[in-house]
Amino acid sequence: MSTELKYKCPDCGSVKLLMIEGIVKGYPVESITEYGDGDCEVDTTGVEVDVHTNHVDTIYAYHCGGCGNTLLMKDDIPVTESKELVQWIKDNCSQE
Ligand SMILES: [Zn+2]
Repeated sequence: MSTELKYKCPDCGSVKLLMIEGIVKGYPVESITEYGDGDCEVDTTGVEVDVHTNHVDTIYAYHCGGCGNTLLMKDDIPVTESKELVQWIKDNCSQE
């Protein structure tokens, strides 16, 4: 039997919760110069390449949909996993 947990922001009272997902993009490097400050010229208007990593689907954070606060664990580490989210909601949201 599973219990449905309700999110309610302790700061603003919003019940909207956003999952922020990072999308990794790669841009082609046009040229690399040895002189000057050693900048690489990167064509950010060019082709965007989805970087093939295992991290593409990584969830980076949960944000409050009302005030935009990042949900943080007790040690100020952002909540990134659903089991942490469950714990956070149990700790911070009254389930009435
Ligand atoms: Zn909020």
